[in-house]
Amino acid sequence: MVGYDDSFDIVVVGGGPVGLSFAASLGQSELKVAVVEQQSLERLANPAFDGREIALTYASIRILRELGAWDAIPASEKSPLQGARVLNGLSPFAVCFDPPRGSEEPLGFLVPNCRIRDALFKTIRLQDHAQLICGHSVVDATNSHKGAVITLSDGRRLTARLLVAADSRLSATRNLLGIGADINRLGKAMLICRVRHERLHHQIAVEWFDHHQTIAMLPLTESVSSLLVTLPLNAADRLLAFDDDLFLTELTNRCRERLGKMSLASTRHSYPLVTTWAHKFWAPSAALIGDAAIGMHPVTAHGFNIGLSGQKQLADQILAACRERRDIADPDTLQKYESWLRRSAAPLYHATNILVGLYSGEHPAARIARHAGLRFAQYLPFVRHGISAMLRR
Ligand SMILES: Cc1cc2nc3c(=O)[nH]c(=O)nc-3n(C[C@H](O)[C@H](O)[C@H](O)COP(=O)(O)OP(=O)(O)OC[C@H]3O[C@@H](n4cnc5c(N)ncnc54)[C@H](O)[C@@H]3O)c2cc1C
Repeated sequence: MVGYDDSFDIVVVGGGPVGLSFAASLGQSELKVAVVEQQSLERLANPAFDGREIALTYASIRILRELGAWDAIPASEKSPLQGARVLNGLSPFAVCFDPPRGSEEPLGFLVPNCRIRDALFKTIRLQDHAQLICGHSVVDATNSHKGAVITLSDGRRLTARLLVAADSRLSATRNLLGIGADINRLGKAMLICRVRHERLHHQIAVEWFDHHQTIAMLPLTESVSSLLVTLPLNAADRLLAFDDDLFLTELTNRCRERLGKMSLASTRHSYPLVTTWAHKFWAPSAALIGDAAIGMHPVTAHGFNIGLSGQKQLADQILAACRERRDIADPDTLQKYESWLRRSAAPLYHATNILVGLYSGEHPAARIARHAGLRFAQYLPFVRHGISAMLRR
């Protein structure tokens, strides 16, 4: 096209796990696809450990396997999750989530985010289908029913029949497309690091809603867990500024020695907690996927799982449009994708937010409500089995 540097059928903004999996899902098509990522190719090819251990459901594992990415993750990086316990304050009572009786299969697997990114990058490279444009961010985007024009930070201008934003929960592309979002800054941060510890975890995760803090312990290898501590922003900043010894002493005290003696087994990371829900998941010649569409609170460990199934839904509809020689950016196709994603993600998104409100409230009424809520969940097996089944779906 005259006046433009290159033209594509689809330009994906963001080479995170959802942007890469979307590009990989289109690998068998004839479509000309580009992925624009602000990080350098070197960093994309060697993603650094970022603290996140992603709890993958069986549905996500199936999608990654179909893409060829699951087998590219070393077995030693896939930690089985044999159960989960939810605790409230100092009460010894725990709600237990276990695989169904007689089942040998775990509830799911924990895999470091960097290993998922790495496997998807290798898939894209192997497919040799999508063009990676790295080291440049998208600084402008315009769209109409005819297509989209994308401007990169080096001044290059690309055209696309469909622009797909996968540039995270505070997506700049979403803003450029004029799509609003509900953005909730929760005033808290999640501190994460791996710890080596004395006591065995038996591959059981613990989510512990304590007063003024929430602690999750995710079982990795035999004596190593990922520790996630949620605190008000200023308390999290203070803790992060401590030297290693002081940091560890503070963590051990906060965990009330549940894991016994601990030593640091990784770098530390901090994530300010923000949840987002875009008002629309598409615009003329454009669509939002992954966190750019829905940014979940990490407590229910479902952001990537939802993003992965959402990108597959959009890719399947685009592939069907190609087979039937229809327009890939047809508004009906994009609306179908939006309806599907809303239907499948809204219950979990809202339930997670209610849970977060209930479990981070310090009002005595909130404490009583969460105690009652846990008893309710434990003694109504369909609640526990329903949640376990959802994880294993
Ligand atoms: C602490 C924590 C724990 C989590 N645990 C789980 C879990 O157990 N299970 C689960 O399912 N989910 C979990 N999640 C959620 C999961 O990490 C996210 O849903 C997932 O990373 C979203 O992927 P994404 O590709 O949409 O966005 P991102 O991973 O944010 O990637 C976005 C990419 O876009 C690039 N980018 C941004 N702006 C631009 C631009 N203007 N131009 C070009 N490139 C750009 C960025 O560099 C980045 O590479 C967790 C999240 C956190 C914070």
